[in-house]
Amino acid sequence: MLNIRRDICGYCGACVSVCPEGALELVDAYLTVEDTCSTCGICEKICPLGALEVIKE
Ligand code: SF4
Ligand code: SF4
Repeated sequence: MLNIRRDICGYCGACVSVCPEGALELVDAYLTVEDTCSTCGICEKICPLGALEVIKE
C-alpha cells in the first residue's frame, strides 16, 4: 500500500502527474490514492517533501 503523510504533503501535485496508473488525485488540499496503485514507488521518489511511502505487505 501507499502511505500518504498528509501532515507533510504540500499539495504540489508532482506525484499525480508521474503516476503511471493514474491512481493519485489531488482535490483542493487533499491527496487520495486509489486501489489501482501498483506500489511501483515512482511517486515516492518524486515527492520533494518525502510525504509518500510505499509499504510492502
Ligand atoms: S506507487 Fe506508483 S502506482 Fe502507486 S500511486 Fe505511486 S506512482 Fe502511482
Ligand atoms: S509530490 Fe509530495 S508534496 Fe507533492 S502532492 Fe504529492 S505527496 Fe504532496
